[in-house]
Amino acid sequence: MMTPSDEDVSAVLRKVFGFREFRPNQEQIVRAILEKRDVFAVMPTGGGKSLCYQLPAVLLPGTCMVISPLISLMKDQVDGARVNGIRAAFLNSSLLPDERDRVMQELLSNSLDLIYVAPERFVLDHFRQMLGRVKISMAVIDEAHCISEWGHDFRPDYLSLSDLVTLFPDQPVAAFTATATHHVQQDILDKLALRTPLVVRASFDRPNLFYDVRFKEHADAQLVSLIKKNTGKAGIIYRASRKSVDETAAMLQAKGFRALPYHAGLSDDTRKRHQEAFIRDEVEVIVATIAFGMGIDKSNVRYVIHADLPKSIENYYQETGRAGRDGEAAQCTLLFAQGDISKLRYFIDAMDDETERKRALAALSKVISFASTSVCRRRSLLDYFGEHYPLENCSSCDICLGTREVVDCTRDAQMLLSAIVRTEERFGAMHIVDIVLGSNNRKIRDFGHDRLKTYGVGKGRSKRYWRQLVDELLAQKVIDKSEGLYPTLYLLPKGLQILKHEACVTMVRVVDNVVNNASALPYDQELFELLRILRKQIAQEQGIPPYVVFSDRSLHDMASIFPRSAETMLSVLGVGEAKLARYGRQFLRLIDRYCSDHPERAA
Ligand code: ADP
Ligand code: ZN
Repeated sequence: MMTPSDEDVSAVLRKVFGFREFRPNQEQIVRAILEKRDVFAVMPTGGGKSLCYQLPAVLLPGTCMVISPLISLMKDQVDGARVNGIRAAFLNSSLLPDERDRVMQELLSNSLDLIYVAPERFVLDHFRQMLGRVKISMAVIDEAHCISEWGHDFRPDYLSLSDLVTLFPDQPVAAFTATATHHVQQDILDKLALRTPLVVRASFDRPNLFYDVRFKEHADAQLVSLIKKNTGKAGIIYRASRKSVDETAAMLQAKGFRALPYHAGLSDDTRKRHQEAFIRDEVEVIVATIAFGMGIDKSNVRYVIHADLPKSIENYYQETGRAGRDGEAAQCTLLFAQGDISKLRYFIDAMDDETERKRALAALSKVISFASTSVCRRRSLLDYFGEHYPLENCSSCDICLGTREVVDCTRDAQMLLSAIVRTEERFGAMHIVDIVLGSNNRKIRDFGHDRLKTYGVGKGRSKRYWRQLVDELLAQKVIDKSEGLYPTLYLLPKGLQILKHEACVTMVRVVDNVVNNASALPYDQELFELLRILRKQIAQEQGIPPYVVFSDRSLHDMASIFPRSAETMLSVLGVGEAKLARYGRQFLRLIDRYCSDHPERAA
């Protein structure tokens, strides 16, 4: 068979997927597969992995078999492919016997471009026998990190995938994952024994995400104000414990927000219901522990808020990564307070396993330094993954966009340091700040700390300022904290120098936080809202998630260029021929009506 030409490839990209251009790495991968070469690709969430195999699946004769670990994701992928006119189906335990028979029939009669199967099925003998009678064009392993015991969600069934290359000696095998350290990558390559594969490691940068770390003061009020700024948009709030998830969800509900909790303490049924409601845009906010997010592909999450510290940078990257999969602007905010560290430390200290405990501590300290330094957030995230970020200013994080000023805070630091020394390094941050502020509480009086020379010397500044300064001194390694349940502050050598006027401290203060404005074209907000309502109606009728009908990006485009004909509709990003045929009329009619009602806007 001849390899499909460049024209064939770009025609499919345009007509089936409705895209004009490839995202980074997609083209290279598609080409390799079409040339029957194996592929191993690490691409971040939202990087567009599906297209890398769905496009060849359309072009190559036969069926592309995708091994995918999560049932909920399979359905989403199949829905998404079908609305683009791709002949797709899945085989997993959620199917009724006759549904399963129908899919088998389709498969055996070569009328599928794509078949998604769970790894549990792939190991079954009778499934393999059946495969022998099907024309398979290529094999794909989604979430390939599951094959590695070094990865974070190892699945024993995935080990059987080592057979793929022997099972398909003449067909390409392509493995994809969004999370793989170099260690995991090598392990996957070894286990799969790919044949001189094209190896792609895409940048982990997510340019459409805005990163923002804020000092956590009144978490509830801060959450409310953040949600209000994103009214009507979908967001996830992560909290550290089930209890705080429930409390926050209840607080938001009481204030009239459509919010639901999600954590491992809820019944399977409730969890499923809440997740569905979120996927279908029926509630705006999901408040969750990290249990949430694994099985969802929702592409239009517009913000992720960490109301508590994440456990590690990997977690933070993965959790924030659930925002903006569609490539549209999305915001990631971390609320950070020194007090949270001791809470986490408390749990870590209680761990029995010495190695686990050390690992957790190291991970936490990376998170703390991410949150408290004044280096570009994007740069420090990428740094963590061993990637160098080339730009001086990313223009999309609080540090790079904030108006910053460098202030000399040596004198204030001396006040704190002196309070620490005068109380013999036996107290924690709160108490030290109370001394400097001149607070009149029981603990201060009991210890006679109101008679210290430093008592009340910092009255002129807010409690918030002093707590920030403590964070800063910890981050700059001027002081450190002891381990244990009640960590106490003590001086490091640099602290002594400062106290003796031999060194200075400066602090970079972000004076003003600027909000993300990375959105593509300016668009008509009112029309966008109407389009969203229509999208939701259609999605409900067809039992698929709204973002499968059209992405937020497609709706933005429509609300910006006001398409009035099928032809212009096709120029909207994400609108291919199948979607045009399926949904074009309804959307065109709505836009038409809107334009007659508002002739001035459509001009
Ligand atoms: P991943 O699986 O890597 O997280 P997806 O395959 O779900 O990413 O793609 C993420 C989003 O990007 C989807 O909404 C998809 O339609 C969109 N997308 C993929 N490729 C392109 C492209 N070339 N141009 C525009 N959008 C794209
Ligand atoms: Zn930056």
